[in-house]
Amino acid sequence: MTATQILSTSAPSRTCQISASLATAYDLSNVMRELAAATYADGGFPHREMDLLQEAGFFAITLPGEALDMTGPNTATLLQLLKLVGRGNLSVGRIYEGHVNALLLLHLYGTPRQRQTYYADARAGHLFGVWNTEMRDGVHLHQDEAGDGARVQGSKSFCSGSTQVTRPIVPGVLHGPDGESRGWQMSIVHLDEHELPVDESFWSPLGMRNSVSHKIDFSGQQLTGHQLLGKPDEYEIQPHFSGGAIRFAAVHLGAAEALLDETRNFLRKVGREDDPYQRTRVGQMAIACETGNLWLDRSGQLNDNSKDSDAIVASANMTRTAIAEICLDCLQLAERSVGARGLLHPSPFARLHTDLSMYLRQPAPDATLEMVGQYYLNQHDDFHQLRTHEA
Ligand SMILES: Cc1cc2nc3c(=O)[nH]c(=O)nc-3n(C[C@H](O)[C@H](O)[C@H](O)COP(=O)(O)OP(=O)(O)OC[C@H]3O[C@@H](n4cnc5c(N)ncnc54)[C@H](O)[C@@H]3O)c2cc1C
Repeated sequence: MTATQILSTSAPSRTCQISASLATAYDLSNVMRELAAATYADGGFPHREMDLLQEAGFFAITLPGEALDMTGPNTATLLQLLKLVGRGNLSVGRIYEGHVNALLLLHLYGTPRQRQTYYADARAGHLFGVWNTEMRDGVHLHQDEAGDGARVQGSKSFCSGSTQVTRPIVPGVLHGPDGESRGWQMSIVHLDEHELPVDESFWSPLGMRNSVSHKIDFSGQQLTGHQLLGKPDEYEIQPHFSGGAIRFAAVHLGAAEALLDETRNFLRKVGREDDPYQRTRVGQMAIACETGNLWLDRSGQLNDNSKDSDAIVASANMTRTAIAEICLDCLQLAERSVGARGLLHPSPFARLHTDLSMYLRQPAPDATLEMVGQYYLNQHDDFHQLRTHEA
């Protein structure tokens, strides 16, 4: 079945109150859930799902003038869209979130020419990503004598989407012609133009296999000045750097909603929905999912309306921490509800368990929570005043 056929056979959306984009995302998430067991068993890049997103126009949906224009106040809706993609398939959500993040970095730090070129690439179906994580053999960018282009040395790990991502943003330490370090510099590598050594053996994970987060060696790549994005250290400018955590939190929450829906389906199937303990657990999951959505709405609004960078970062740190807890609670409640028989493949619970447990491991969770505490300890306003002023 082609992606177009799958799209055309998906049930029409009932969510008539929400925007057409979210209605499409909801339909697609249902199609992805139907595909999920086969995709999981295959273990490779989720081609069918990514084709669906591309055909639906989601590769370009955040570009200027499009439905979720990233230059406008659309963050809360974008978070709902990311949540729905995650609800369909967490690996797809991981890869797609990287694409959205890369386009935002281009908007924030790209020259007019870079924006023009790379936005056109996104419209033409190029998949973007952001590959920042590295081990000891990380990326160094050595500028040429003219100080224009650069030669790459080193590798990135956790490259979600692997070589299917044809336009990854790859940051590394920039060295000037004198060899001196100039800071953390973003670059854009054209992966469709070169074949690079890919270490697939790196990706033998507990879950999220379909994100194909391989290790890739970029050594020897020669980049033009046009492929260097922004100035050194702009990648880590706040609130964009830490504030972006609300996007992966949204994808995470999609899995919590999938757990809730699947638990209800399972209990209906086995005729256990009248049991008071089961009802109580489902009630707790529903409260948790609603809470997660309130976090997304709040942080989305703050992101678009507040000028206070520290407040946006604190809100993002709280959101990702709260939603991680919500997801862990939902995993545990769902598993208690469905028992061992529910955890047998191809029932969705084992898949959701391994994928979500793996994907919840995001950078520096302890430091994130500590920063939330530090933020409030640094303030003089009472909590109520602070909340009102932030918004
Ligand atoms: C499915 C998946 C896909 C991914 N895709 C991408 C991608 O496309 N691009 C990308 O750039 N990255 C990607 N990543 C990497 C991700 O962004 C994180 O960097 C990574 O998951 C963090 O790894 P970790 O849990 O080992 O982190 P760590 O930071 O090592 O955290 C592990 C624990 O150690 C603690 N800790 C951290 N630092 C210290 C310290 N200095 N001292 C003491 N304790 C410490 C943490 O709080 C935590 O409790 C992906 C990760 C996953 C799981």
